[in-house]
Formats: sequence, structure tokens, C-alpha cells
Amino acid sequence: KTRVYKFGNKTADGNSQMKNLLGGKGANLAEMSLIGIPVPPGFTITTEVCTEYNLLGKDTVVEMIKPEVEKSIENIENIMGAKFGDKDNPLLVSVRSGARVSMPGMMDTVLNLGLNDEVVIGLAKKTNNERFAWDSYRRFVQMYGDVVLGMKPESKEDIDPFEEIMEHLKDKRGIELDTEFTIQDLKDLVYDFKDAVKKRTGHDFPSNPWDQLWGAVVAVFNSWNGDRAVYYRNMHGYPADWGTAVNVQAMVYGNMGENSGTGVCFTRDAGTGENIFNGEYLINAQGEDVVAGTRTPQQITKTGSLRWAELAKVEEEDRVTNYPSLEELMPSIYKELNEYQEKLEKHYSDMQDMEFTMQDGKLWILQTRNGKRTGAAMVKIAIDMLKEGLIDEKEALLRIEPNKLDELLHPIFDPKALKAANVIAQGLPASPGAATGKIVFFADEAAKYKNSILVRIETSPEDLEGMNIAKGILTARGGMTSHAAVVARGMGKCCVSGAGALKIDYKNRILKVDGHEYHEGDWISLNGSTGNIIEGKVATIEPELSGEFAEIMNLSDKYATMQVRTNADTPKDAKVARNFGAQGIGLTRTEHMFFEVDRIKAMREMILADTVKGRKEALKELLPMQREDFEGIFEAMEGLPVTVRLLDPPLHEFVPHQLATQKDLADEMHISLEAVKNKVSELEEFNPMLGHRGCRLGITYPEITEMQARAIIEAALNLKAKGIVAKPEIMIPLIGTLAEFESQEKIIRGTANTVFEEYNDTIEYLVGTMIEIPRAALTADLIAQKAEFFSFGTNDLTQMAFGYSRDDAGKFLPIYIEKGILKVDPFEVLDQEGVGQLVKMGTEKGRSTKKELKVGICGEHGGEPSSVEFCYKTGMNYVSCSPFRVPIARIASAQAAI
Ligand code: PEP
Ligand code: MG
Repeated sequence: KTRVYKFGNKTADGNSQMKNLLGGKGANLAEMSLIGIPVPPGFTITTEVCTEYNLLGKDTVVEMIKPEVEKSIENIENIMGAKFGDKDNPLLVSVRSGARVSMPGMMDTVLNLGLNDEVVIGLAKKTNNERFAWDSYRRFVQMYGDVVLGMKPESKEDIDPFEEIMEHLKDKRGIELDTEFTIQDLKDLVYDFKDAVKKRTGHDFPSNPWDQLWGAVVAVFNSWNGDRAVYYRNMHGYPADWGTAVNVQAMVYGNMGENSGTGVCFTRDAGTGENIFNGEYLINAQGEDVVAGTRTPQQITKTGSLRWAELAKVEEEDRVTNYPSLEELMPSIYKELNEYQEKLEKHYSDMQDMEFTMQDGKLWILQTRNGKRTGAAMVKIAIDMLKEGLIDEKEALLRIEPNKLDELLHPIFDPKALKAANVIAQGLPASPGAATGKIVFFADEAAKYKNSILVRIETSPEDLEGMNIAKGILTARGGMTSHAAVVARGMGKCCVSGAGALKIDYKNRILKVDGHEYHEGDWISLNGSTGNIIEGKVATIEPELSGEFAEIMNLSDKYATMQVRTNADTPKDAKVARNFGAQGIGLTRTEHMFFEVDRIKAMREMILADTVKGRKEALKELLPMQREDFEGIFEAMEGLPVTVRLLDPPLHEFVPHQLATQKDLADEMHISLEAVKNKVSELEEFNPMLGHRGCRLGITYPEITEMQARAIIEAALNLKAKGIVAKPEIMIPLIGTLAEFESQEKIIRGTANTVFEEYNDTIEYLVGTMIEIPRAALTADLIAQKAEFFSFGTNDLTQMAFGYSRDDAGKFLPIYIEKGILKVDPFEVLDQEGVGQLVKMGTEKGRSTKKELKVGICGEHGGEPSSVEFCYKTGMNYVSCSPFRVPIARIASAQAAI
């Protein structure tokens, strides 16, 4: 088995198809070499060796790959005409990690490897540049010390040990910049660095280039299991057994004088997707100088340079002399680079992000990869490339990362403003978007300021109105399906949830973070896409739904077979979703309608009523309001099916818990405060989520079901009279047995028939059920005898299959994920292995009874791409998700079908 793959000089052992074995970087280096792009010669040690290293340890693995590595170094030596470790004509190498996917900044790199006290003298002579040689040596000892020998700051308060030495010398010499060091200073630094290593580790700094090489290779393997990499892997769900490859390459130098330089470029604009070549470079610099931002990088193209100068307010004369573009400064190198970028983009038929170095007038390409891009750029590039004939329709659709479409739908922070932002804490990115406003701590005070951010330990249904008014919602507790998160996503409102670092003092109206205090009325900003909580105001810009967005959406309809509906509780949400292409409503949560100020009262009266008569009276008040709600929603969805779910949450969520509100209610109902209090405590439950909710309410209080059924049917008939077609699908929540379903169905059909008689007219409607209790999935064949459709409520189904309370899981799920016990939050990504079996079984059993049974999903998973794919494979007719996830689900549905 081959463990080391060589590349360079227009040949290579590997190619771009071998990303799993060679890592992304290694595979692309091989490919570039094969198609004649000048890459510094080198070799890749495979990802399999990383796995072997983890099993067998250093010594065995070094023995195993030594002959291949020695041969590969010899190959580099032949191409470069230099020798590794040679005193007169030295070859230096870089050692870099390279996993199959790019994990920017997550793993380690060592440059200038192969230097020691003798080689440095040879390098100075060979390049005729003593300063360059010693600066490289200084950088090498520093990087190697840090990455391989563990010379990190001793505690989080300390600064880097090498930086400390440099600062010390700068103080002594009265200088400020690294560039002001003399050659003697650089020599002193190298010796001081090595002393520090000896002192800290008890060992001499390795002077043998081969020892250095093995040390670096092992360090790269180790970095795969470093904290940063593990965190990144977990975040993206990349498995630990992928491992990383190691790339060893001949060093080329951009810091050898005025005829050398280094830069980064993109074949298209990664921010907007525009088809313009762009990038930045620096003369006489090494890679890290461009990133470090100590010098102002210059633009690659003249057009780019002119644009930049305008933004930076640089005069043309100043621009030409001090910041010329590469195109102007080195026209022949630019021409060559431009040819390579065109060639590479065509070759990979995707936007490329490239790194290059010019050493003494010769251009080298160090890396190419498919460039990371914004959601807007992603869409534009896919459509443009389709039009240019670079990719076909299916490929264009597959180029869309569904979740990234989110960025296009919500107002966004101005990227310029974000750069200067002060991030004070981090929470879960519960609902994307950008929100800036003044802090309020109570929902009923959200309207106090024009722009407010509602800051809560957690939210409850009572907060709904305030949440709707606030620009954004921030909670200290709760996960991705917490109340705040679900509601915010439904509203398309920015929300950061579960920010554990926040200490909220309601009494004094103070938010404490990390020793800082923020008061009511102070400005904060939330980035719902990253979970960042930012001090003060950050400017936002409206997103533009460009022509390409519509084009990609239309394209998705051509390939998607499974429909996409929306979860919407108001005509406004319904309209938004319809604009995004929703093909119906899969879930209207009727309870949300009862929280508005003028309704909650009637609702509370209904709940507090002691007699059926009293309850019926209160329900009579609610009926016209509900009917009006449904008319609005049916009208917004004219001609499309609308699934309306009967009342679901535990009743105690509706009753007042604060003394003042309890008093008000008692006064209005002409009963004693005691009576109200008693009723409230009577309704309290140990496990409300497993308590008196769902169809259990309709079974104990049939008059509620009756009122809701009447409101639905009357609304549809009223619209019919106006020539508007409504297609209600009435859904019974939380059933576990056929008998439960039958009891509710009987009330619904009975009521409908009564209303039909009253109106002397009829409409078509369906009666179906949610499948959200495991028993319902297990007995789906029985339930399908009566139910006309199924909709999987995977929020509750997940809760009950795992036995994790939706409201409490936020306390332990993050730890589960951190420890790798769960890979992802099952409330966010459907657990196909477990909960998925119930979904699959429920669908199959249901259809074994009723072949054409309509099946959908309305849990939060309905808008999550991998779950959407699963639903497609299960044979569902539709998925239903919050309005702002409709475009995402449409793309995911098309991708599943491709
Ligand atoms: C569900 O349980 O998946 C569902 C959609 O209903 P809710 O979230 O309202 O309980
Ligand atoms: Mg449910």
C-alpha cells in the first residue's frame, strides 16, 4: 500500500479525485501539478497514516513510512537542485496539514523547516541575503517551538513566550517594528528562543533536519485531535476517523526582495459572486504577513486597485507609486497568474481560492480550493456558471448549500460595521438575521423603544406579542427548539438562545456579562446567524432577493417531487411563505391566536369556568375571533391546502401567573382572587408536556373541539360565498390510540354537518392526525383506518422517543454533544437511526391500510436539509417548515430527487 504520494514538475502520483486519502490540499496540489500549473514540488502523507499513527504511535509509523519519505525528499531535491540539510546548498520545506475538507486555521503549519546553525549560513550565502536567512531561521524556531514543542503561553493571562522575548528586545533597543531588528538582533533572538525551549522542555532545540521533519509530521497528526480541530469537527459533524494528511513541500520565498512577493486571489467575488478576478498581494513578504494585517495589501487587478483607492480615499498619484496593482507593477507575472486562474476555474468548474508566491520573478501556485462564499455569491455563481455552460442544471442545484439561503432572506449586518464590533458573548444561532436595539427585560415593555431587543432568561407563550414587537430575542436558557427559538424562526425574527454566560437580574433590570453591566435602554446587537452578542449598535442592510434567487428556485421546482408547505399561524406569515413558494400550510398552531391581548381574556374565562355552560359562553366569545383568523389564513392561501391543528398546549400556559394580572382577572370575572389562584395551582402539572394537553383537552372539554371545528368550517363557507376556495385539513394533535382519534373525529364531523345544514352548503375537508407519540407510529395501521392524513410531529416524537424533555434538554444536550455522545442536537437534525424508524414504520403501516394516505412532517425538522432528504426517501408527500425556511426546504427537496 502506498502511504506517500509525490507531486511536482508536471507529474503526480495522485489526483483531485483522491481527497479522502490525500486531503483536499494534497489532492489539489497533485492535480495542479498534472495539468502543468507550477507548484513547489513535494509529497503528501495520506490520511490513513494519521489513523495508523493514532493506533500504533510514532516509532512504528515513522519506521513504516521512512523509505517512502526519503525517496520523496530525494525527488524534491532533484527538481529543486538543492539538498535537505546541506550546508552549502540547502533545501527547506514547509509542513502543512490537509484534511479532506478545509478547516481554516484549525490545524498547524511549520514553515522554513531544515534550518540549523550551519544551514543558516549556507542559506545566507546561497541567497546572498543574510538578513533573509536569519529572519527565516527566527521564524522557524518560533513556529516549530510553538507547534511541535508546545511553547504556548503558560496560562491564559500570559503572552506567547517568544513574543515576550521579542518585546523585551524591542524595549531594550527602543524600536517598535519587527522590520527594525538588525541582523545581530535576529541572531540574538534565535539563541534566546532556543534557550527558552531548553529551559521549558529540558531538551535542546532539534538541530538535525530529519528530526525536525518527523517532529513536525507528528505534530500535524496530533493537531487533528487538538481542541480547535475537535471543536470545528463537532460543529460540522465531521467524524474523528477521517484524519488529516500531511503535505511537505519545497519552500519558495516571497520575502527575498523587491522581485518577490505573495498573495491570495479568487476567480470570482466571494462576497457578491460577480465574475471578476480579484485578490491581494504584498511585495517582499511571507504568507502570514498578508493575513496579519500589519501592512496594507495591494490589489491584484488594476480595476480592483482603482475601486480600493476610491473606498480608501487614496489619491491616484499615491496609489500608483505606493499601492500599484500587480497588473501594473509586474505585468508579465500578472498575465501568467491570470492564465492559471482561468485554467483552474475551468478545470474545477467552480470558483477557486488560490494562494501564490513569487520568488525572484518566478510564479508559484501554493494552493487552490473551491472558495468559501456568501449565500448571495453561492446563488449567483451557480446560475452564472449554468449560463456559461460550465455546469448543468442538476449541478447548479447541487451547488446550493440550502442552509446558506437563510442569509439572503433576513436583514444583514453591514460587513464593514461587523469588523469593528465588540462581541461580548456567544449563544446558539437560533434564528438568523441581524438585530440592533435597546435592551428590554419584559415582553410587555418591548414597545417602549422603537427598536428593542427582548432579553430574557427564557420566554413563554405569554411573551409572544412582545417577541413580535422586539427586533430580536436573546435568551440565557433554552436550545434550538426552545419556545423562543421556535417562535422566532416562525416569525423570521433574529434570535440568539441559550447564552449561558448571561446573568439576568430582572429585579434591577441588569444584564451582566463577564463583569460588565448592561442596563435597560442600552444598545446591543444580535447576530442570529453566528450567535454573537455584540455591544452597541451595528448598522444593517436590507437583503436583496436578486433575479438569480428566483431562477434557482424555479429550477428547484423542475426537479423536486416532494412538496413544501409552511408552518404559519397568521395571514402575514402565510403570505410571506407563499411568496417564498410554499405549496400550502402544513401546520397552523391555533393556540398562538389566543395570546393577543383582547383574546387571552376570553380564553382565561373559558379555562377558569367551572361549568360546561360557563365554558360554552366564553367559547362563544372566542368563536368569531377564531373564524376571522381562519378566514384570513385561508384567503392568503387561496386554493392551497391548509392544515389547522386543534388546541394543543397545557391549559396552565394560558392562565396568569403574576399577582397583578390574577387580580385583574378576578375583578373582571367577579370572582375572588382566591378562586383564581386556586384554579391556577389546580392546573399546575409535574410534566406538562406529558400532561393535560393535545387531544386530551378535546376529550375532557369537547366544547373546545366543537368551537374550533365550527370556526374552521364556517370560515371556509364564508369564503366560498365570496368565490374563494379554502381547503381545510383539520388535524388532531397528540393522539396515541385509535379511540382518541375517533372521539375527536366524531365531534368534528358532527359539527361540520350541523354547520353545513345551517349554511345549506358544504365544502370539502379532511380530518387527519399528528403522529407524534411513539404509540401512534406503532399502531399507525389502525389509526389509518380513520385518519385521512398523517403529519409527523417530530418535535414531540423526538422528545418522547429519546425521553428528553424539550424544555429541559438545553441543560444537558450541549454536554452530550461536547462529549460526542450525540453528534448533533436531535431536536434540530432528525435522528434517522432511532426516531426515523418510527417515522418510516408509521408511514409504511399507515399506507398498508390506506394506500394513498397523505403523509407529511411539521416538526422543526421539516426545514432541515438532511431531514428533508430523509422525508423524501420515506416517501412523504410534503414537508412543512417555518416561512423563512421554505426556500431551503425547496432546494433540499430538489436535491433529494436528483
Ligand atoms: C411537533 O411536536 O413536532 C409539532 C409540530 O408540534 P408542537 O411543536 O407544536 O408540539
Ligand atoms: Mg407536538
